[in-house]
Amino acid sequence: MTGRTEPSTSEGSAPTGGGRVSRRNFLKTSAAAGAAAAVGGSAISTNPDIVAAQEQTDREIVHGNCWISRASCGQAITVEDGRAIDLTGVDGHPKASGGQGREGTLCSKGVAQLDKTYNPNRIRQPYIRKDGELQSASWEEAIEFAAERLEQFREEHGAEKMLRYQGYPLTDTHDKLFQRIYGAAIQVGRKTTCHGPFSDSWGWMGGYGREWPDWQNSEYIIAWGRNPMECFRGQWEPNGILDARKNNDATLVTIDPRYTKTAQKSDRWLPIEPRTDGALALAMGHVIIEEGLYDEEFVENWTYGFEAYRENVEDKTPEWAEEITDIDAEEIREVAIGFARAAPRAIAFPWTGIAYQGNGFKNAQAIHALNGLVGCIDHEGGTRHYRGPSLSDPHAERGIELPDAHEDADLPDYDDYPYQRHIRNYSHNYVPTMVEKGDIKGYVSNWSLPPKSGNTQEWLRALDEMELVIVVDAFWNAVSKRADVVFPDSSQIEQPFLGSGGDSCYPTRTWVTASNAAIDPLWDTKPAFDIYKELAEEMGYGEYFPWDSEEEYLDEKLDAVDMSFDELAEQSYALVDEYGYQQYREDGFNTETGLFQFDLAPNESYAALADELGVSTAPEWQPVDDDIYGETTDDEYPLLFTDVFVEQISRGHCQALPESVEEYLDRYGRAYDDYEGNYLHINPRDARPRNIQTGDMVRVESRDDAIELPAHVYEGVRPGWIATVNGFGEGSVHPEEAGANTMTLNREHHVEPVSGQVDRNHPVEVTKAGGDGA
Ligand code: SF4
Repeated sequence: MTGRTEPSTSEGSAPTGGGRVSRRNFLKTSAAAGAAAAVGGSAISTNPDIVAAQEQTDREIVHGNCWISRASCGQAITVEDGRAIDLTGVDGHPKASGGQGREGTLCSKGVAQLDKTYNPNRIRQPYIRKDGELQSASWEEAIEFAAERLEQFREEHGAEKMLRYQGYPLTDTHDKLFQRIYGAAIQVGRKTTCHGPFSDSWGWMGGYGREWPDWQNSEYIIAWGRNPMECFRGQWEPNGILDARKNNDATLVTIDPRYTKTAQKSDRWLPIEPRTDGALALAMGHVIIEEGLYDEEFVENWTYGFEAYRENVEDKTPEWAEEITDIDAEEIREVAIGFARAAPRAIAFPWTGIAYQGNGFKNAQAIHALNGLVGCIDHEGGTRHYRGPSLSDPHAERGIELPDAHEDADLPDYDDYPYQRHIRNYSHNYVPTMVEKGDIKGYVSNWSLPPKSGNTQEWLRALDEMELVIVVDAFWNAVSKRADVVFPDSSQIEQPFLGSGGDSCYPTRTWVTASNAAIDPLWDTKPAFDIYKELAEEMGYGEYFPWDSEEEYLDEKLDAVDMSFDELAEQSYALVDEYGYQQYREDGFNTETGLFQFDLAPNESYAALADELGVSTAPEWQPVDDDIYGETTDDEYPLLFTDVFVEQISRGHCQALPESVEEYLDRYGRAYDDYEGNYLHINPRDARPRNIQTGDMVRVESRDDAIELPAHVYEGVRPGWIATVNGFGEGSVHPEEAGANTMTLNREHHVEPVSGQVDRNHPVEVTKAGGDGA
């Protein structure tokens, strides 16, 4: 725990703060919420008998869409007397099912939407900061105050000094207002906190932003640093894998230092030495080429740079990789051969486990190369270039031309700065320095919590230093507590929603999904669309938002697919266009050469950076080092520490709901009544010499900082590597801020050098701190 006091949850009280505050004074906390008017909890049921019984009452079942991980899983919400009382998935929904005729389900976070909506910790009314204090305000006051401050900010500093931190706005009017009309040109966010190395390398090699597997049609699946049985973008992912296992007798291999639920379901678990994934991938490539198992037709006709790749893997034998990865050479050989023989119905699929490494870009490049080598690109049962349908732009439909105020902005250039020399815009970890240099002076976001994503302490200081902070959010957290204006957003079930996409259980169909508000907004909250429309009107931009309601705005978006919003919301989802596999045979790859690129030499920006870093543009082994690719362990800091994500708590808008935390603790046999935070998972081989037992409080010390949390001695993490779950501690959404915020160990220099992605691996030492963590 930190010294920061918990936010008040009683209506009419301001949130509380304390500790290191430069400009702002936070109110002392009032007693905990007396008026927890909300009805928490819900009788969740997917039992058909119960559902049928409910249908015989006058209860109404309406559609919703879960948006926590942006997957839009379709919900069927039971509403009684204006109150949502139950919630389940929608049969056949592209994200919430495994296909048509399949019962739709939601993950535990999706189900927790009810608890989230009725959570007493929600922000219930607008707040504005006056005389250093955050005070409750009417909507009129808050909108007027924000409009005035935004105008004043632009006059004094220029709109380009306002940072848009990428969150999860439920409406695109956030960006339209702040970027295009107001002129806030800098956006930072998920690209450098989630998937940069993985998606950038894929984008430059394969030409699509991201690949997704065609799970259910696959015969060999390598979950590489990913845990799709627990962390996914909708139930279609685990369902697809289970279908592939059942129907295609597919092999499942998990490569992960942690024994995850996916590892439990796998034929093989390779508990790899962390950050050595590139060496393993290159050795697999070596075997596949040596055995003549690669796809010659694809390589010859559809790839660029194969020779450079072949040269780089020539001496990368499984025996060489065994030394580095701690994976048996024979096992490497078997997996490589099994994967190649199953190809093209095979996929090696990395995600954040690879992206969070300082050498993640090179590791991801070597893994993607395997997919190119066996020709499973955009193939049935391989990777899939999913497409979404194009929706109409309501502004264009009405002939309203939006300005592009951000385009002429004079943006700072930090090309020579060591931690900002990467290719992709600005890094999350660099924002505090940009504030210090005076290049960012304001902040606006929609449902986001950047201090939990890296460089925490500096981020907290930077937020305190900013001249104007505006947030649209539903919960008190490290950012909303520091804001000048807090607009309380409605939860998803209190507002309309429209989503569209491709990646789903329908690998050859695009889809749209929609829902109306299931219940009226609680307390004095408003849907985000209404907030931006009212703010725009107050700022004199009313002409850009002529729609009377959000439903009307969304209705015009659907013009392109010839459906009305009400019609779609009534049926939850619709499949739209159909498209085939191997689209590159018609369209080529969207890369510099029009081919799948093993070697990224044709990408000028990457080639220049690779030259500066002294590395190959082709896949190669790049071990961690203390200068560029992440810190190494040594005698002083011998253990590698990573914070991992679990579905119940960490992803998206990780409101640490008591129910979710309880579930997490349950898994490790811990009691929620005693402790509500995260545990440090440590292998007995590391715990024993340190005299650490489960429940002991331990101190995790890195070169930059230290945190304390209770130990859980556990075989499920490999020796030499320790892990805990992200989403707890200082600045989190948990009202008690219980547990430890792992990202307080993180600093500006912890970034992957190509994408600027936050590196979440820290060399540490662990010692017994004294005390009982329950
Ligand atoms: S996967 Fe879970 S959290 Fe993500 S949208 Fe679906 S139900 Fe919600």
